[in-house]
Amino acid sequence: MVMTLIGPTTCSLDLVDNVVSERTREPNRSFFRSIAGEWRQRVAVYIAQRGSPGHVPTWPAIASKATSFKTLYSHPAEGSSQGAMLATLRDHELDLCPACGSPTVPETLDHYLPKGKYPHFAVTPFNLTPMCDPCQRRKSEKTGDHLTPRFFIHPYFDTFSIDQIVQLRIAPPFATPTFMLSAHSALTNPEAALVTTHLRELEIARRYVRFFRNEHRRLIRNVTNMRVKGLAVLENLESWQAGHADPTPNGWHHLFYDAVTSNADLVEYLVNDRLPLYP
Ligand SMILES: [Zn+2]
Repeated sequence: MVMTLIGPTTCSLDLVDNVVSERTREPNRSFFRSIAGEWRQRVAVYIAQRGSPGHVPTWPAIASKATSFKTLYSHPAEGSSQGAMLATLRDHELDLCPACGSPTVPETLDHYLPKGKYPHFAVTPFNLTPMCDPCQRRKSEKTGDHLTPRFFIHPYFDTFSIDQIVQLRIAPPFATPTFMLSAHSALTNPEAALVTTHLRELEIARRYVRFFRNEHRRLIRNVTNMRVKGLAVLENLESWQAGHADPTPNGWHHLFYDAVTSNADLVEYLVNDRLPLYP
């Protein structure tokens, strides 16, 4: 589901200086020079507070100039510093979404703190992460609410997501099982609370279920073949699971095989019971 990403190579503070010095036309030139110091300081606060919406203030004084910030992101000039930074972030090797673990190339960049509410972080490298479209549509302008200031895991700062943070449970009847997704039992309470809101707000359980149903059907087919060939079922499944732990144990395939191999009743069913035949 979520994987930890290595932070961007472009320095977020240097980028502010470069963007300001590259504004040559009025009135933007004067405007950006007038706010440069405070902008830099607000980016420093973002990094120190790890992008946490409860601790990173909005900037009402620049509300009337929000479009100028957002345009830096949406229409970077040829050869601009932020254009080069955005190109580097988009040129990634990911083949799964860092926010949900879906096996798809994440083709958009998400603003962890949304640019509508925080236009001054529209081109802050540490505020930008690759994300799949279904996640981005659900996240949209959300950050948290008055009870829970922070809904979402931050891929650069929440390094606990380097380990498995989500758990799938597969409940009988195993021919037509039910799937339950939750925060991993090894997490601390604050970590589990964050994972729970992240799952809920991105509607990940609902989006997973079709994948899990299909993967379960393929599992039955594969195990049937293994038994015909006299192959060791559990050892093979464990080896598939280990392979799918790359690049993150929170990818959908790994969560599925973890749920299979750690479920003694299901393993017993697969090894010894009569399995359904699929057309
Ligand atoms: Zn996603």
